Amino acid sequence: MRAPLVIVVSGPGGVGKGTIVSALVDRDPGLWLSRSWTTRERRPGESADAYVFTDRSSFERRIAAGGFLEHTEFLGQLYGSPIPETEGDRDVVLEIEVHGAQQIKAINPAALLIFVLPPSRDEQRRRLQGRGDPAQKVAERLKKAEDEEPVGMAMADHVVVNDDLEQTIADMLDIIRHERMAKAV
Ligand code: 5GP
Repeated sequence: MRAPLVIVVSGPGGVGKGTIVSALVDRDPGLWLSRSWTTRERRPGESADAYVFTDRSSFERRIAAGGFLEHTEFLGQLYGSPIPETEGDRDVVLEIEVHGAQQIKAINPAALLIFVLPPSRDEQRRRLQGRGDPAQKVAERLKKAEDEEPVGMAMADHVVVNDDLEQTIADMLDIIRHERMAKAV
């Protein structure tokens, strides 16, 4: 028996983290995806269970009650990972930005941090625009990415460039498999 792994998937907006983590949990039955809380509004077409969508006062009450493993303010909105319920012995995946990843590493240095990079700024811009965010939000997120990348890369256990989605998913499943083997001995 080993303790469940905490797998943090981080990286700038528009890099494909959401698509990657859904594929990871679909393909590896030993993984489950933590559902974050946010005060941001739901995007058109975004699934209702992408987050627990909530208001600032409910979020702040949960902070005060110690209900988050980590939380942060990102471009004016609050985001946080609830303290995980146990899900048997499955390993948990957290899809979060860099400041949250830093908090997780500080409380749990054994957490596995995989940092995902876009193949290029142009491709990242195209992906952000494809989500339907207004131009100003796209510009903010691209600017934010410039600050996040050096920090994330410096603390990551693995850096993956999401050029080919299938290859990225296969590489990440491999990384997780190796980590399980390393933790089992
Ligand atoms: P978005 O608004 O695009 O869904 O998310 C904005 C950023 O917040 C993304 O980088 C996403 O990974 C991150 N994020 C989502 N949930 C959480 C969370 O619970 N904690 C932290 N720290 N970041 C999160």
